[in-house]
Amino acid sequence: MNILVIGSGGREHALAWKLAQSVKVQKVYVAPGNGGTALDPRLENVSVSSPSELADFAVANDIAITVVGPEAPLAAGIVNIFQERGLKIFGPTKEAAQLESSKDFAKAFMERHGIPTARYQTFTDPEKAHRYIDRQGAPIVIKADGLAAGKGVVVATTVQQAHDAVNMMLSDNKLGDAGARVVIEEFLEGEEASFIVLVDGKNILPLATSQDHKRLKDNDEGPNTGGMGAFSPAPVVTPALHARILREIIVPTVNGMRKDGIPYSGFLYAGVMIDKDGHPKTLEFNCRMGDPETQPILSRLKSDLAFILEHAVNGTLDRIELEWDRRIALGVVLASAGYPENPQKGAVITGIPKESENCIVFHAGTRLDHDGRLLTSGGRVLCVVGLADSMRMAQKTAYDAVESIYFEGVQYRHDIGWRALKPYKT
Ligand code: ATP
Repeated sequence: MNILVIGSGGREHALAWKLAQSVKVQKVYVAPGNGGTALDPRLENVSVSSPSELADFAVANDIAITVVGPEAPLAAGIVNIFQERGLKIFGPTKEAAQLESSKDFAKAFMERHGIPTARYQTFTDPEKAHRYIDRQGAPIVIKADGLAAGKGVVVATTVQQAHDAVNMMLSDNKLGDAGARVVIEEFLEGEEASFIVLVDGKNILPLATSQDHKRLKDNDEGPNTGGMGAFSPAPVVTPALHARILREIIVPTVNGMRKDGIPYSGFLYAGVMIDKDGHPKTLEFNCRMGDPETQPILSRLKSDLAFILEHAVNGTLDRIELEWDRRIALGVVLASAGYPENPQKGAVITGIPKESENCIVFHAGTRLDHDGRLLTSGGRVLCVVGLADSMRMAQKTAYDAVESIYFEGVQYRHDIGWRALKPYKT
C-alpha cells in the first residue's frame, strides 16, 4: 500500500522512516517533507499543502492511509475533508481536535468528566482577569485559548508577569484570535511526562512513555521552545502510575468524547504533571504525537507501524499488541542560531553520521539546495537519537554523534536525560 504523511518536522521524518520499513508499504509520500525525507530513497516529498489538494493527491496516487503529523491541519478540519471523500486518514476531526485547539474546551471537558487537572477560570474581559489574578496571587499560569505555536502559555512567577500576560493577550491582541480568550489556571508543581496513545474512536493503544525538555538551555533555563530533546521510556511513569494515568485520564477522555457525540480517533497526547506524592494531573492534550518525543519513541518501536495504522483506521486497535526495543532511546535536538525567537536559516550542515543500529538522525528544518548541499531551513534542524541499554550510554551515543555534526551557530542542550539520571530521593 501507499501512505501519505503530512508535515515537515522531525516527527514526520520519524513517522515516514518507520512506515517505509513495513513490508506492506510500497511508497511513502511526505507532504511537504524536509531535506531528510528528500535524501531517503524510500520516501518521496510532494509539494502539496491545501487539504483539498492533498485529498486529490491521495485519490490520484492510490493512498491507502494518510497520517497527519502537526495540529494545524487537524484543527482546520483535514480529517473531515478526507472522510467526506471516503478516504482513510488517521487523526481527529476538527470537532474532536478542539481538545488541543481550544484550551477552554479541554478544561470544560475535563471538568465535566472528572478528569484531574489544574483549577481554572476562563476570561474574555481583561478587568475580570486582572481581578482574578489579584485574588489568586502567583505563581499562576496564563494560557491563550487557541493555537499559538508554543507561544500561548505564560507561567507567571509574579503577579505582575500574570497581569502583563493578560494585557498582551486580551488588551493588545498580540496573539490575535488565539488570545482573545484566556484560561487562567493554578500552577502545578512536579515532574512532567508525555503519555501518548492511539485511539480508534473506542479502543486505546498506549505507546511507550517519554519526557520532553521544553526549555532552551541546560538546567531547564532559558525560554520555552518546541522541545530540545526527549527520551523514552520515562522511568517516572512506573507501572502503577501508567495504569493510573490510563484509568483516570485517558479512558475517561476517550469515553467522554464518545458520550459527548464527538468520538476521538488519532494520536492522543496527554501532557501529565506528576506531583511529589505521585498524583497525575493533566496539563494539556495534544491531538497528535509530540515532537521531539516521536523520534525516540518510534526508534524503539519494533512492530510494523503501517499494520498498526491499518487497524487504527478500521477501528480494530484492540487486536494489536506492540513490541518494543528494550533499550533506552534519547534524542538531542540541534537548533539554529537565534532559535526560538529569530532562527537563522541557510547554514550548510556537515558531518551527519550514517544511520546505524544505535544511532539515527532525524531531520526537521533542513532542505537540499540545487547542488545537493544540505542547508538549515528552520528553528529546530535535527534530532539525533542514540539507543543503548542504559540512559548514560544512550546519552553518550547521542552526544558522540552530535559532536560530529556542524552548522554555523548550532545550539543544543548538553543535559538531555538529566531527570532520569538524578538520584532517587530517600
Ligand atoms: P505544546 O507546545 O506542548 O503544545 P502549549 O503551548 O499547548 O504547549 P501547554 O503544554 O499547556 O502549552 O504548556 C506549556 C508548558 O507550560 C507545559 O509543558 C508546562 O511546562 C507549563 N505549564 C502549563 N500549565 C502549567 C501549570 N498549570 N502549572 C505549571 N506549569 C504549567
